[in-house]
Amino acid sequence: MKILSIGECMGELSPQDEAGTFRLQFAGDTFNTAWYLKRFNGDIDVSFLTGLGTDAISEKLRDAISDANISAAHVVDVPDRTVGLYLISLENGERSFSYWRGQSAARRLASDPNALKHAIEDHDLIYFSGITLAILDADGRDTLLCALRAGRADGKTIAFDPNLRLRLWDDTDTMLQVIMAGAAVSDVVLPSFEDEATWFKDADPKATADRYLAAGASTVVVKNGSDDIYYVSPDGEGTHVVPPVANVIDTTAAGDSFNAVILAGLGEGTSLQDDIAEACKLSGAVVQARGALVSVTSN
Ligand code: AMP
Repeated sequence: MKILSIGECMGELSPQDEAGTFRLQFAGDTFNTAWYLKRFNGDIDVSFLTGLGTDAISEKLRDAISDANISAAHVVDVPDRTVGLYLISLENGERSFSYWRGQSAARRLASDPNALKHAIEDHDLIYFSGITLAILDADGRDTLLCALRAGRADGKTIAFDPNLRLRLWDDTDTMLQVIMAGAAVSDVVLPSFEDEATWFKDADPKATADRYLAAGASTVVVKNGSDDIYYVSPDGEGTHVVPPVANVIDTTAAGDSFNAVILAGLGEGTSLQDDIAEACKLSGAVVQARGALVSVTSN
């Protein structure tokens, strides 16, 4: 199976000591999922489609993609732009984030409709998120949604995590409307209930799933932190109890790693219940370590 993940990866600057030393790593929701996919099942071909500049940090990110055995063959060159950045500040153990991503090269990832079309044609499963849609302008969103719709009509599986982040959007209404447009081109939707309840006012995880089914998805898995997961697919619906973990340290990328296992399962013919159990194992390990990209396996 060949999987294409579409979105933004940023430079992450994290403080190492009081003297002001920062470490540079790379992370971003759809990149994290691609990274965990390769960790979970090295046999799956995984590509990451983003926009990158031609400067030194863009080259570093290109190397990081390749080092993770993820293909950068479909990366879009945006020579006049560079990688978005965020910096983590630590105060009394609490992390806060500052972002410089408004002009990132990734915002141009949908600027070439033909390149996008070819990338989608070259894969079986295409994954994107609400953050992917948020960083694009109106034309870019249309181009991406149109290409995904065409891919789906061609028999590709489209998977979407709404990943609702209001600060990336002009206003709430636009966010809700575009997220539903993303769901309308998708077969599989992987939302997190806390966000959905906040912005769509869903009463419970089943209401979230029903809304995405009504938009046209056939499989919805509603994550809910340490609470039960609700899932529905053509094979039926159910809930899955998340196994408790000993020591939650950092929930960054919990959902991204969870999604990776579900995507891996889609191509393997395993049951959704088994995939969810595996996804809980991996994300349960990820929340017990610091950072987005944690070198653990669930096997
Ligand atoms: P979220 O996107 O925060 O709902 O989390 C995604 C998945 O990560 C959940 O479905 C769980 O499998 C796992 N997870 C997140 N938080 C916790 C936690 N506190 N304890 C155990 N697993 C968790």
